Amino acid sequence: MQMHTYEPAYLHALSRRLFESSGATNEIGHIVANILVGANLTGHDSHGVLRVPTYMRRISDGIMNAGAEPTTVRESVTTLVLDGHQGPGHLTAYRAVHKAIEKARTSEICSVSFTQIEHIGRLGHYAEIAAREGFVGIAMVGRGSSNKMKVLPFGGKKGSLGTNPIAIGIPTGDEVPFLLDVATSVVAEGKLQVARSKNVPVPENYIVDKNNVPTTDPNEFYDGGYLRTFGEHKGYAFSLAACLMGQLAGNYGEGCPFGYAFMQVININAFTDLIGYQEGIRAFLDDIKKSEPADGVDEVQVPGEFEHRTRTHRLKHGIEIPDTINEQLLEWANTFNVSADDSIITNEDKAYYPSVS
Ligand code: NAD
Repeated sequence: MQMHTYEPAYLHALSRRLFESSGATNEIGHIVANILVGANLTGHDSHGVLRVPTYMRRISDGIMNAGAEPTTVRESVTTLVLDGHQGPGHLTAYRAVHKAIEKARTSEICSVSFTQIEHIGRLGHYAEIAAREGFVGIAMVGRGSSNKMKVLPFGGKKGSLGTNPIAIGIPTGDEVPFLLDVATSVVAEGKLQVARSKNVPVPENYIVDKNNVPTTDPNEFYDGGYLRTFGEHKGYAFSLAACLMGQLAGNYGEGCPFGYAFMQVININAFTDLIGYQEGIRAFLDDIKKSEPADGVDEVQVPGEFEHRTRTHRLKHGIEIPDTINEQLLEWANTFNVSADDSIITNEDKAYYPSVS
């Protein structure tokens, strides 16, 4: 599969321009583009610019509203309900985590529930924002509806769940916060999209075909197949828990999948001294890293390191995009009459991506 290597600022500028052309303000374009390119930078290509063509289709089909700003539906000292008005979910989640941090500065904790929200992308982005500000950040997304979805419930034959991810970010006081960021399906659905776009198989036990026969061919998933939950019944339980938490603000419309998103920000200073806490977390994680590695493994890593290392590498060496996705991006650029060469990169685009030595 032919790959194209781009600097992050270019992919940011192209995504921003496409969103702007479909009704987003310049500010929304920057926020969404940065979250998408951030997913590529951290190694989660499944939630990066690969998604732009799908978002463009949803916008042109009138399902998603590129220019919609979220509004507050309900608010207390420690809670928020946001209506995303079917705008880019990335924007709603971004506004949510920043509002939650501001509230948690004074009220110690803030939980957020959402209504009318679109796909929010890589959850770790929001958990990381909180952790970098010195807060614990928790985010989850959960959707379910019997026999209508793409992830098998434990013991089930047809999909009844979304990939229902959970992220937890915890500050370490340095550049590498602890970051748990996983789908409760054995892998994010977007990773199947990545495998399909590169024409490579997926590992065994990830998916079954439409007849419930295990397969490694990602095309079978898109031809009526299903994903499994991780850890059998345990992942299933986590997945349902994400649905129940995501349902706090109520989405009980008929035929509507149950659940959606939930977020929480915790002010560590309400419990203990932040600096001491962070030092303790770093020392603990470093101690875990001293665990003797298994044969054939160089070192034991802790969650968050993978993203940090990949980001450092890709800021320096660029982001690879498969030809199939590149083609689709260029087609949308053509549709909107957006130039697809480097001239679209502004200094504002570049400012999001510091150069690394
Ligand atoms: P994954 O299997 O790639 O696991 C990622 C997690 O594992 C991270 O916490 C990472 O730091 C950690 N990790 C990676 N290598 C490690 C190692 N060697 N040692 C210790 N920890 C390690 O994740 P996934 O389940 O495929 O999910 C990928 C992305 O998809 C996530 O960013 C998630 O938020 C996103 N997602 C989003 C949605 C949505 O609806 N918005 C749905 C599903 C998944």
